[in-house]
Amino acid sequence: MKYETILQEIYIELKSLSITGNLTTSIPELSKVNPDKFGMHISTIDGQDFGIGDSNEKFSIQSVSKALTVALAFSFLDEEIWKRVGVEPSGSSFNSLIQLEYELGIPRNPFINAGAIVIADMLVTHLENPKQDFLDFIRMISGSPTIDFNLKVAQSEKDTRFRNAALTNFLKSFGNIHNDVETVLDFYFHQCSVEMTCKELAHSFFFFANEGKTKAGVQVLTQSQVKRLNALMQTCGFYDESGEFTYRVGLPGKSGIGGGIAALFPKNFVVATWSPRLNKKGNSELGMNALELLTTKTGMSVF
Ligand code: GLU
Repeated sequence: MKYETILQEIYIELKSLSITGNLTTSIPELSKVNPDKFGMHISTIDGQDFGIGDSNEKFSIQSVSKALTVALAFSFLDEEIWKRVGVEPSGSSFNSLIQLEYELGIPRNPFINAGAIVIADMLVTHLENPKQDFLDFIRMISGSPTIDFNLKVAQSEKDTRFRNAALTNFLKSFGNIHNDVETVLDFYFHQCSVEMTCKELAHSFFFFANEGKTKAGVQVLTQSQVKRLNALMQTCGFYDESGEFTYRVGLPGKSGIGGGIAALFPKNFVVATWSPRLNKKGNSELGMNALELLTTKTGMSVF
């Protein structure tokens, strides 16, 4: 497969699209980003790397981190985690409170905020130094020791935390948060503030495509666990647009309001895109188009 040529073709075709999306407004610090950035990076399972555009520039991975925290929690708690978080698409927005009320504080899945906050609570309980240990985990899986939190972004989210604070308090009222609310939120804001380049993000997600093994050969999850998390990314990874993403792209993945998307074709490749202009559902508009072009041109998707 000539990935280099395909990336160039995608890059040219994207330039002719008229884009209507805008930057997120929910985290003030993120509205300072140049909206016209675009990067894309492909890492193949046989070890090749191909990047284009701003693929070596760092951006805020935001909710893409939810796939990494659930992987870490799954690695030591295994099926236990599903006692406190479900595995069904939510059909409502990522930061919705409504469903939690009638489903008695059990979030639908680990990729909506409520679910990710419960996973954050599990990590706060089980890790000795939660923020540092999570950072060490993503540095290890990506092979990139410079990956870090963006403290300004974490603070900006803390300053405007009202809805996430409401969700966490609501979860706690149902007994589904075991630690102090502010401690869990602090962890959650830091995990979302992590910055990576497209290349680092693709390398971080490598184990999802490689039967649980990182690029350096570390077995992070079993093949069966990875199958389950890929299934969840396929059905729940793109906010209330997971069906549309599956229809157009046909790969499991996870998006974030920083404009990043990580997606993968098991046993073949991992791909990361970044473009901060979001569509109405909160997914990167150019990122989705780029990935649709990738699976159309290569004929490589899980379907
Ligand atoms: N930190 C963001 C929030 O909780 C993440 C949102 C996202 O990327 O979906 O609102």
